[in-house]
Amino acid sequence: MSTVTSFLDIQGITVRFGGLTAVNKLSFQVQQGSIHALIGPNGAGKSTTFNCISRYYQPTEGCIVLDGQNITHWHPDRMAGVGVARTFQNLELFGELSVYENVLLGCHAHSANTLARLFSRPSAQTREWVDSLIERVGLSHDRDTRANELDFGHQKLLEIARALALKPRLLLLDEPAAGLRNRDIENLDRLLTELSQRDGITVLLVEHVMQLVMSISDCITVMSFGEKIAEGTPKEVRDNPQVIEAYLGKGATRA
Ligand code: ADP
Ligand code: MG
Repeated sequence: MSTVTSFLDIQGITVRFGGLTAVNKLSFQVQQGSIHALIGPNGAGKSTTFNCISRYYQPTEGCIVLDGQNITHWHPDRMAGVGVARTFQNLELFGELSVYENVLLGCHAHSANTLARLFSRPSAQTREWVDSLIERVGLSHDRDTRANELDFGHQKLLEIARALALKPRLLLLDEPAAGLRNRDIENLDRLLTELSQRDGITVLLVEHVMQLVMSISDCITVMSFGEKIAEGTPKEVRDNPQVIEAYLGKGATRA
């Protein structure tokens, strides 16, 4: 039997905001190349956990180990350099810039002086790469549309394309399916599965759209009130009474 070492190892992290413990001694492991979902009711601490991994928040306790390196105290600017890209629950796009320009900026996210790079002419190779990413997320028809003219769902896809421009090894997606129509959710399902299976990218996502989570996830970690309450395959998690109770309230499992 071979031992699988995890790509991302969250070891007992705690995050406090004043008197509120948003994340409480949380541990979980994400395997390389897998799709791993973090789910739980609103306020469970999912986005806070993401912000610790991408290094925007500092846990008061615990460790975050990425590919064998302890990154717990790293500055967020170093994350792109080790192949960690993320999208935000509330979008962070350049609204006045086109789809193409937003993705192009993603290519430069780990080089200094991003704006200067935008105004110099990119190489043919870079332009092709950017266009291939736009096509991959299904936004070719909107290549020259300003980001703030896209509907919310398409802005989310644009954020994914921009994150992919970094050639990430770990992609952190905070509610990528929020605001997407059914057809777009199916496209997202296909895209994420392909990124994991074909490109070997590790995907960690926070998501409320259960249809997507259950379809694509290799492993699901369930949080409630800052703590891990369950973990396993989609089937294991779906049938877990504690998970049902966390979502539906006490008594739901007896009904
Ligand atoms: P989720 O993403 O699971 O909905 P969050 O991680 O956003 O949950 O929030 C967990 C808890 O921490 C919530 O009670 C939220 O109000 C609180 N929280 C999150 N971010 C901050 C912050 N920057 N300052 C104070 N409280 C915060
Ligand atoms: Mg959140």
